[in-house]
Amino acid sequence: MRYISTRNKQISFSSCEAIKQGISTDGGLFWPEEFPKVSFEELTQLSAKDYRARAKFVLSKFLTDFSEDEIDHCVESAYTSEKFGSDDIAPLHKLNDNAYVLELWHGPTCAFKDMALQILPHFLTTAMHKTGEDKQAVILVATSGDTGKAALEGFCDVENTNVIVFFPSEGVSEVQRKQMVSQGGKNTFVTAVSGNFDDCQTGVKKIFADQKLQKELMDGGYVFSSANSINWGRLVPQVVYYFSAYCDLLSAGEITVGEPVNFVVPTGNFGDILAGYVAKMMGLPVHQLICASNKNNILTDFINTGVYDVNRTFFTTMSPSMDILVSSNLERLLFALSGNDDKRISSYMKELSEKGVYSIDEALLQLLQSQFAAGYTDESQTLKTIEKYYKEYGYVVDPHTAVALNVYEQNTSEYKTIVLSTASPYKFPASVCKGISPKTDTADEWKLFETVRELSGISAPASLADLKEKAVRFGGVCKVPEMADQIREFLKI
Ligand SMILES: *Cc1c(COP(=O)(O)O)cnc(C)c1O
Repeated sequence: MRYISTRNKQISFSSCEAIKQGISTDGGLFWPEEFPKVSFEELTQLSAKDYRARAKFVLSKFLTDFSEDEIDHCVESAYTSEKFGSDDIAPLHKLNDNAYVLELWHGPTCAFKDMALQILPHFLTTAMHKTGEDKQAVILVATSGDTGKAALEGFCDVENTNVIVFFPSEGVSEVQRKQMVSQGGKNTFVTAVSGNFDDCQTGVKKIFADQKLQKELMDGGYVFSSANSINWGRLVPQVVYYFSAYCDLLSAGEITVGEPVNFVVPTGNFGDILAGYVAKMMGLPVHQLICASNKNNILTDFINTGVYDVNRTFFTTMSPSMDILVSSNLERLLFALSGNDDKRISSYMKELSEKGVYSIDEALLQLLQSQFAAGYTDESQTLKTIEKYYKEYGYVVDPHTAVALNVYEQNTSEYKTIVLSTASPYKFPASVCKGISPKTDTADEWKLFETVRELSGISAPASLADLKEKAVRFGGVCKVPEMADQIREFLKI
């Protein structure tokens, strides 16, 4: 299986190369040249197996230059009961006869990013080994919260890798900050950057383009790499849980094989929902993929009108991982829907970077709407939804999941629907408590853990329960122009 660039399909690589490079040199994203098919018979067989077996099945169809042993090793190292609390890596929670919640937050950092970032480091080291790379990878991450911690946990003490996380001094929750600054491991480095997420991200982009620093790094035996969802190695593990959720419905007798289902996905960078589309292209019976946004509803507008326009106000919401205006992975979807039309995609992306807006033609819009529906939830509805699911089902959800549940209600259909739940309520205790009892004093997040436990009847995950008392290892704050020096200091080059 070869991977081609969305901006020039003459550029083609093996999966090892695509994962190692992260992004194509022309700025395009790697995308499989063709899609393997899965039969109903295979789905039935998979439904009798556990998550790890399902993962091996799906991944081996895409990572065709990895040996069976290599894939086994990656899967067995990533999805352990130790890291995910049980062998049920992505459990499905039944709400009623029409709606199910797929809980993707049982990993070590309590957000769905673990589903991919627990396995990506193993893909990357395997790929480096297979391609004869003799340098150590340095993973640079600018994070608005969840990705940073998930990358630190995933890469922690993985041989031949280092991970450096920059997070904004303004904007992450107290729980998120403490998760990062108390990180252990010999190859992990963290610093706050004074400013907001944009300052942080701009700083990291500059570093990726800094030739002088790259040269110093090379001389020191290092090479930069990236762990965000433009990397195919982060997207492909997410295809697995769409299959796994369907198989769980099958084995529980909730559906018969071939019966279509809907998925509702709380969306930011469009990576998660795109993985659902990949599953559908492989033959998973999916009726609709429903894209759920918060008040930053640029994707809702795009799916409904065909116009992508970033010239609008950016809102900071209680579902921060969905606060995003440029959803990188949309590029891959448009490439696929347009029949791999690289010229067209290049021109859309050029318009986007020059004018901040592009629009697709009527035919492409119709194709898009035949596969996707979209909706959004504002802040007050998000709180009301948290309250509603607590009162009606005794089920406590985080604000990202609440956005998706509300959009589900706007799109109920005859098909059974799986709503993706992307964070543990313990990660956003202030919003959760505010939704359920508006009078709660939310000044001290740590005090709210006990409230969340009383409401949900579920204890705090061990990794969060003792977090308050953990020692701070990385107390520093640097300014944007000091980021490169901070890297030199961390790596001692
Ligand atoms: C990253 C994230 C999302 C958005 O996922 P995308 O793949 O970027 O669309 C949603 N919810 C949570 C909690 C996240 O961390």
